[in-house]
Parts: sequence; C-alpha cells; structure tokens
Amino acid sequence: MSAGRYAPSPSGELHIGNLRTAILAWLFARSTHRSFLLRVEDLDRARAGSEEQQIADLARIGLTWDEEPLRQTDRGDVYRDAITTLTARGLLYECFCTRRDIAEASSAPHAAPGAYPGTCRNLSESERVIKRRERPAALRLHSSVTELSVTDQIHGTYVGIVDDFVVLRNDGVPAYNFATVLDDLLQGIDQVVRGDDLLSSAPRQSYLHSLLAPDYDAAAPALTYAHVPLVLNSREQRLAKRDGAVTLADLELLGFGTSEVVARLLQSVNLPGDPGREPSAQLQAALRVFDPDVLPREPWVFTEF
Ligand code: GLU
Repeated sequence: MSAGRYAPSPSGELHIGNLRTAILAWLFARSTHRSFLLRVEDLDRARAGSEEQQIADLARIGLTWDEEPLRQTDRGDVYRDAITTLTARGLLYECFCTRRDIAEASSAPHAAPGAYPGTCRNLSESERVIKRRERPAALRLHSSVTELSVTDQIHGTYVGIVDDFVVLRNDGVPAYNFATVLDDLLQGIDQVVRGDDLLSSAPRQSYLHSLLAPDYDAAAPALTYAHVPLVLNSREQRLAKRDGAVTLADLELLGFGTSEVVARLLQSVNLPGDPGREPSAQLQAALRVFDPDVLPREPWVFTEF
C-alpha cells in the first residue's frame, strides 16, 4: 500500500493554516493515487474534545480518508515493542541530562548547534547506576551519522542534523520523532506532507525510518517529503489561535461559510476555488489541475478575509 496522511495534534481547534496543510496533504495523496489517512497525535498535547472537533472540521472542508483515524494513545504496546527491539539491537542508551545540562554542553566550542552533545553516550554501567537514583532516564538513539540528506518536493535536497535524539522521554512517553516514524511505517505511509516548520526533523526521521524498516517490513518504501509553506499572521509569525478569527467556527460567525473558506484556501495555493460550490466539489476540481510544481514557495500572510 502507499499512502499519504495528515497527523494533527489535538491541542485545540484547527486554524486555517492547519486546514490548508491538510488540504495540500490530501491533494498530494489523491493526485498520486495514494490512500489518505488521518492520525491523531495525542501523546503530548491533547485537549478534551479537540480530536472530535478537528475530525469534524476536516470532514466539513470536504476531505475524505480511507480508514478509521489512528490514535497514538491507543498504541502503547506498539511503541513498547519497538523500544524493546531497538534496545536489543543496542541502538538506544539512557540519558540523564536536564535541559540545562544540554544547553550548557551545547554552548561549548565545537558543539554542533541544535544537536545533542552526546554527554550520556559513553557512560559506564556504574555511572548509570548512580544517575538512575537521581532522575529517570530518557532513551536516546545511538546514531551513527551526524547529518543526512533528504529529498523534498518543494525544498529540493535538504541536508540536516541527525543527532542522538530522544526516542522515549524520561516520563515514559514516546517522543514525537519516534512515534511519528513508527506509525508512518506501520500505516504504510510513504508520502509525508506537512508544514515546513518540520523540515529540520526530516533527516532524523528518515534515518530512524531506515533503522526501523527491516524490523517490520524490509520492503518498506522510501519516504517522500513535501514540506509546505506555513500561514503567517500580520507580524509574519506562524499563525496561532490568538490571531483572531482563524478557525472555521470563528469565520462562520463573521459570515464566511465553509465553502468560502475552502475557496480562499485553494486560491492561496494557486488553485481554483469557487465559493458557490460545495467544499468537496471544489476539492475535486482542484485535484484535476493540481501540480506540486506551481505551489507557492513563500508563506501566506493571512490578515483577514
Ligand atoms: N503532529 C504534528 C503537529 O501537529 C505533525 C506531525 C507530522 O506531520 O509529522 O505538529
């Protein structure tokens, strides 16, 4: 199977930047005859009621998906098994660093900016025994590369850091990079479309994907990426809920129905949008002419409709 996906964190209502990324993920998947799947990334920032609201809004803007959305908090066993396997392969190590330890070590000369400096990589067992009494350990990946190049349909070749990133947090919660990659692999996802704020995560994720794939399915297809430009507010910062009327519900109160919102979102990515038609009919029309090569490369600054 080959599939694309949209994987929101249910931390609140989706705003038009999120909806625009979701539409693009759907267009990328459908235009390449892939399935389209939803995944609820609720390990970290979940707010009651927000999953249902997000899924309802995605349906309202005309998106369709092919399976029941997968919820990460239902998958503790899957993550635990993978951690056990990675541990047995000698690919994980315990890390006792606080944020402050890392900030201090990273400011040393020769430290790669943004990379874990490797403080706990070579602790002896007796050092670990002592540290385990002080604080619970996180588990980090023993990476054998320091950077990796990925190919992105919008950004071209992107080279970024691969450090010993966290796989299991010290509160026992699977880390974002790990849960996302494992789920992409197990859901048969081979096309990752998301906001370009996550471009710098792609090398780490691609590396982990290649390590995990043989444990599950040696024939897992390579991931293709498209990191799409974000929507910004009038101060050119990433759009957020506090920026005013930015959700479907807010905009509806101002008199902009869902068809109007979908039309504006499609137009913002150089696709035809017609507020006189139902959202799903607009998406089908956009799908017929969708071409990733003509997508804007710049963020969309949203002030108001
Ligand atoms: N759940 C992540 C977010 O909402 C996106 C994960 C992904 O697309 O890889 O920021």
